[in-house]
Amino acid sequence: MTARPAVPTAPTNQDGSDGSVVVVGSANADLLARTAVHPAPGETVLGRDLAVLPGGKGANQAVAAARLGARVAFVGAVGDDEFAQAATSGLRDAGVDLDRLTVVEGSTGVAVVTVAADGENSIVVIPGANAAVDASLVRRHADLLAGAAVVVLQGEIPRDGVEAAAHLAGGRLVVNLAPVIEVDPAVLRRADPLVVNEHEAHAALRLLDRDGGTGPGVSGELPDDEVVGRLRALGVPSVVLTRGAQGALVAARGLGADGDVVSVPAPRVDAVDTTGAGDAFVGALAGELARGSGLVDAAHLAARVGAFAVRGSGAQPSYPWAGDELP
Ligand code: ADP
Repeated sequence: MTARPAVPTAPTNQDGSDGSVVVVGSANADLLARTAVHPAPGETVLGRDLAVLPGGKGANQAVAAARLGARVAFVGAVGDDEFAQAATSGLRDAGVDLDRLTVVEGSTGVAVVTVAADGENSIVVIPGANAAVDASLVRRHADLLAGAAVVVLQGEIPRDGVEAAAHLAGGRLVVNLAPVIEVDPAVLRRADPLVVNEHEAHAALRLLDRDGGTGPGVSGELPDDEVVGRLRALGVPSVVLTRGAQGALVAARGLGADGDVVSVPAPRVDAVDTTGAGDAFVGALAGELARGSGLVDAAHLAARVGAFAVRGSGAQPSYPWAGDELP
């Protein structure tokens, strides 16, 4: 019998994967201007202050997972401009592996956000380098994608990049259809889970149901448990529907004695800013799945992490670190 090393160098899950999370997605610099009122077309208003913050759904999710202790690598792109540093600062601070970050000529992705006193946002997004994360870029990282325990995808990179990454993922695939893009329904049928809010869930139904005729789910009239049931009936292996302060619904085969849908509550908190709460949820969920937790347990943790994130302003700055007390 050979002795096992006392401290394994890298965790290895039962499925032979390495316990790591790979996020393929967007990284942006968010330029946040606070004003009293939104400027009308043709109008100039004075702003109070300007903050330059790291953002982008992919980067947010990678940061959320890494801050909680997951081993995370990021596949994405920034430009060769001054915004690249801002876009990646949160990833660096959280210890995300950036060896696979590509630097392309031109602009980093930028979101220009105006927040008025009434709390409403208006946002202009310039995809910049995120548009370079296409199938040919993604295929250069086939090795990494094949070995990861969990691969996480969202909708802020080109559709063919998402499709290539879904195809190359060797482990569990988490697909967050946000924002909604017209991906090949085969991507959704590989998602385990598909993570969507209510609006995205209906869009996913439409994508999957294209050739099956339109049922009541498409009109938005169905209750949430029917929506997740239909998504599963259309071939999605598991679904997590996030519902803001209400938490999430988890749907997968054989979850509990009462059927295939479990409701996971979010803790009650005083919500200050919900920006990036969905991304905190997805990152936490992916990290927990990579550790080998079941989907319902992972969703419980993710709901608490999402609630933590709404207590603070901004996206990444509001995310918990391992050891922070969760609500
Ligand atoms: P999205 O922003 O993508 O629409 P949600 O609003 O559903 O996502 O939020 C994602 C998660 O964040 C929820 O499942 C929940 O855990 C948490 N969350 C969001 N808003 C609140 C809130 N007001 N109170 C507590 N938790 C919240």
